[in-house]
Amino acid sequence: MSKISKGGNRFKYFCSLADCGMLRCSKCKAEAEPLYRLDIIKKSLCHSCFIEYYEKKVKKTVLKYRMLSGVKNLGVAVSGGKDSMALLKSLLNIFPSINFVVIHLNLGIPGYSDTCQTLVQRFCQKNSIECIVYDLRNAEGYSLKDFVTSKLGRRICGICGVVKRYLLNKIALENDLDAIATGHNLDDTVELLFNHYINGALDDLVRNKPVLPSTHPKIVKKIKPLIEMTEQENLYYVLSTHTEYVDNKCPLVKGSRMMKRKKLLMKVEEEIPNFKHLLFKTHLKRFLPILEKHFEVPALRECERCGMPSKNSICSYCKLISKLRIPSSATFPSNRCHE
Ligand code: AMP
Ligand code: ZN
Repeated sequence: MSKISKGGNRFKYFCSLADCGMLRCSKCKAEAEPLYRLDIIKKSLCHSCFIEYYEKKVKKTVLKYRMLSGVKNLGVAVSGGKDSMALLKSLLNIFPSINFVVIHLNLGIPGYSDTCQTLVQRFCQKNSIECIVYDLRNAEGYSLKDFVTSKLGRRICGICGVVKRYLLNKIALENDLDAIATGHNLDDTVELLFNHYINGALDDLVRNKPVLPSTHPKIVKKIKPLIEMTEQENLYYVLSTHTEYVDNKCPLVKGSRMMKRKKLLMKVEEEIPNFKHLLFKTHLKRFLPILEKHFEVPALRECERCGMPSKNSICSYCKLISKLRIPSSATFPSNRCHE
């Protein structure tokens, strides 16, 4: 069973006064415990200074990349993990005038997905936010578990990515949302960059950026407000705001190549401080403009099976699920519950 955490069991992440020998918050100088030791800025902040620091940084990112320009109805993709819960909580606090609609996909992962759904629904109910729950098993007739036992099982994280991208876009489109926000953080971004550079995956590299504008009437704009926040900062934020989150990683992710790469990059960061931030900034400022200049945006047509935009006659989602021999998009519109 997955664990829901309010943070009590994660105090190893906090710097207790005795451990780090610091008595005061680096900002307000108040004596405080716990202090949040932030690797990225090499400072320790008290509870309220940390929340202020975090929300200011998220707001700055959103404004810098003009993420919310023209956005009145924002879909927030929430899995129930620390990153997307930090995303939802901080956006609610920073931008109270936006209409938020939470989208949660129940991917049908045993011992995990139902816990996530309950937590997300509970948060939405408490905060009077509309919540769309899309149950893969009911709506599409399959679940992620079915892929694990198929011959595609070894590529489960990539498969999950295709499924989530397709469905989040389709649900946002059907519900007239202006954009979708996801909780991708700096660590995710750098792990992907690393993978795409070593594989020369140019089309993925040009997509790795803070905002993906709509390039087709059926493609909804995507934004990543936490792209400059580390996993550690997101964890501290859910802890300091007492926001519940599912404390376990997806059980399918364990031992994956993605996790191995993340661990490796953590070691690099220990040796080269600020490495992740530097790589991200260099990609964005130096490489991306050149890549974008030389990279032709592929012409899109409608998928012959589902009608969604695609580079090929059959989109990658339909190709994928045809391998499970299930007809595509069985029962739209989505199961919508108004919380
Ligand atoms: P991941 O691909 O698991 O690293 O997740 C990246 C982002 O996708 C999360 O921060 C969420 O915004 C979104 N996401 C992941 N899983 C789900 C889900 N089950 N339902 C809704 N959004 C999700
Ligand atoms: Zn399709």
